[in-house]
Order: sequence, then C-alpha cells, then structure tokens
Amino acid sequence: MAEVLLGLGSNVGEPLDNLREAISRLSDICLISRISSVYKSEPVGFADQDWFLNCAVTVETSLTPEELLDRILQVEIAMGRTRTVRNGPRTIDIDILLYDDRQIACSTLTVPHPRMHQRAFVLHPAAEIAPDMRHPLLQTSIKEALNQLEEAEQVEKISAPAWPPPLRP
Ligand code: ADP
Ligand code: MG
Repeated sequence: MAEVLLGLGSNVGEPLDNLREAISRLSDICLISRISSVYKSEPVGFADQDWFLNCAVTVETSLTPEELLDRILQVEIAMGRTRTVRNGPRTIDIDILLYDDRQIACSTLTVPHPRMHQRAFVLHPAAEIAPDMRHPLLQTSIKEALNQLEEAEQVEKISAPAWPPPLRP
C-alpha cells in the first residue's frame, strides 16, 4: 500500500459540505487515515472570487498514481466541477500532493504537486496531519517547507461543525 497526501479545496456552493462529500467519496476509493482541520484561505492567482476552504487527508491505497488520479477526477466530475478560469472558482479540487516518495512527470500527472511547497493553503493542513512526510525532490519535510515559506497568502484555521467527518472503521 502506498501512503498518499491529498489536498482538497472548494469555494463554490457550500464549501464545507463539498469537502465532506469529497471525503466520503474518497473513502469509497481508498482508505483514509487522517483528516486535517478546515482552513479558510485567500484565493491565489485569480483574486476576484470567494475565499476557499481547504483541508488535507492522508490515504492508503493500492491504486497506482494514474489510477488514483483517474478516480479523483471522476469524483470532481461527479460533484459537478467544471473547469473555466485557471485557478478560478471550483466546487471541489482534489490534488495528489505526495505519493510515497515517487516522482512522476507525465502530461496528466506531476507528483509531487509542483506548487505545493509555495502554497500556505496546502502546507498548513498538510503539516497538521503529515509533518514528517518528505518532499522527494526538495528533500524537506512538510513541516520544514511550511517554516521556509516566506510571503504567503492568508490562511486561517477555522472550527467547523461536525468536523472531521468520522473515519470508516
Ligand atoms: P490545479 O489543481 O493546478 O488548479 P486542476 O485541478 O484544474 O488544476 O487540474 C488540472 C489537471 O491537472 C488535471 O486534469 C490533472 O490531469 C492534472 N494534474 C497534474 N498533476 C496533478 C496532481 N498531482 N494532482 C491532481 N491533478 C494533477
Ligand atoms: Mg487540481
């Protein structure tokens, strides 16, 4: 089984419900081991949109990275995500941040996710559940990457009702 770190984000509709639904759908695909708190974050890249809610989850899976991406994209589509503006509003975004210590660069999949170490909204939740997971290219842990972050967008941990959603036994 591989250990995988996923980053989730939503800023359309009811973002908290979207994160919950995405986690529930992910639990049909793989074994969820940890779920971070929810963080509210300022949009990056395309500022004229609502703030995001983000979280991170760690999962265990025997799916290959390509199979996992495929299933994740199916979840995004099932949840009504349409792609319009780059970095624009989204019902749900699920990114594969780390997959064991694998390095993958193909047209559809780049792992580690190429911008994860620059994004506070990724590193804050990730550091909460996987501080010691290592970035195989940068050779730093998530915790170190967060400490090295200089200028970053605003990210604030929030307390959300009924969060984290229960893990399946
Ligand atoms: P982003 O998450 O960068 O804002 P999108 O969610 O719109 O962008 O993703 C567009 C495409 O990025 C996906 O269809 C997928 O093929 C590709 N992709 C490449 N690497 C990854 C990754 N590590 N995790 C998720 N998607 C990825
Ligand atoms: Mg994505």
